Amino acid sequence: MTWTTKRGFVNTFAQDSSTAGIVLRTVLRHGIAFRDQIAEHTGLSAATIGRQVTSLVQHGLLQERPDCTRAGHVGRPTIPVEVDDRRLSAAAVHIGRLVTTVAVSDLRGRVLAIAHLPTRGDDRQLVVAAGRRLIGLDAGIGDRRLVTAAVVAPWEAIDRSPSVAGRTLRDLTGLPTATSDHVAAVAAADLLSSPEHAHGVTAYVYARETVGVATAHDGVAPSGARRAGSVTHLPTTSDVLCPCGARGCLGATVAAIGPAAHAAGIVARPDVELVHAAALAGDARAHALLIERADHLGRAVAVVRDLLDPHRVVLAGQAFTAYPPAASVVLEAFRRTTGLGPVPITLSRFGAEVQAAAATAIALGPLYRDPVAALERLERQQRRVRNARAPRQRSGTADPTTDAHAGRLQPA
Ligand SMILES: [Zn+2]
Repeated sequence: MTWTTKRGFVNTFAQDSSTAGIVLRTVLRHGIAFRDQIAEHTGLSAATIGRQVTSLVQHGLLQERPDCTRAGHVGRPTIPVEVDDRRLSAAAVHIGRLVTTVAVSDLRGRVLAIAHLPTRGDDRQLVVAAGRRLIGLDAGIGDRRLVTAAVVAPWEAIDRSPSVAGRTLRDLTGLPTATSDHVAAVAAADLLSSPEHAHGVTAYVYARETVGVATAHDGVAPSGARRAGSVTHLPTTSDVLCPCGARGCLGATVAAIGPAAHAAGIVARPDVELVHAAALAGDARAHALLIERADHLGRAVAVVRDLLDPHRVVLAGQAFTAYPPAASVVLEAFRRTTGLGPVPITLSRFGAEVQAAAATAIALGPLYRDPVAALERLERQQRRVRNARAPRQRSGTADPTTDAHAGRLQPA
């Protein structure tokens, strides 16, 4: 459900949002906000806003900006607040078919540190390796306290388990850990940065090594469990053999480009990023492969659009964003194929950082919806971890993973 105030502010997380979450997100959108501005945009009373702001400041989520004070309406100076992005941070893991991305971000969702590792091993081994990279990143960025985590992936397309991955990351980091389908996560990230997409239906089409689709209705992204349909086996006119046995499935067609370029001697490894780099450097054969892929993608986007009839379409993932000459081919193929006329189509603003941004949006989601409850959940979880480890300490066995300053990741 979405509600709109008389000023037109749309609350994109209204489904299970607390009052504190509404205040936090309003400040997030404003930058620096005075209490009367928060009241205007939320319809909340001055007393409620005062209480929530005090609580959010105490929890390290907002900070006062006395340097930006102005005279209040009764002559008393009023002090605005902004999101305190100096203290808390979020840990994010995005598992792709070939590459896994780990990132630590601040409370605004800005990526502070990012690393990549090959997607290798079973679910547990992979997430343990990713968690260790996170530990290294976290150690490198100073005194922020990690308070939330997420792991996202195209789970079905790459045959991995969200429950194993989520549990492994939670156990390794001691953080409440959310999981989500990665296209739903792309939608969540887009909605955080593009409030204009919060009205009506937005269709998201993602393509890199996998393809996926998700829709957001009135600014509400699908939750982890409620995912959109699949376009992995959508037929195209390509003759690439799909693992399902058919030829021309969209997922197989998109995934085939790295191996095809490798087999043709264009790139040294079957890595699509190398194909993008070769085309950008002027390789005509790499360009031709990417243009052919763009044509298939543009027609697939048209099918998705005609099925869902959204108010707008957002294209995300490197297959759309990494090679600019292909983008016009996608749009041209779309226009030729759709039967419904023009619709606003935009490229995701995240470009190559879309994986980190998507996973970060899922990690921050619980904090944005109900910040105080999310921090209390963290305290409970870390208390459980400490209690579970206490008997070993009483017996005199020092445990290097026990955390003396809760929230800092320790090597497991
Ligand atoms: Zn197939």
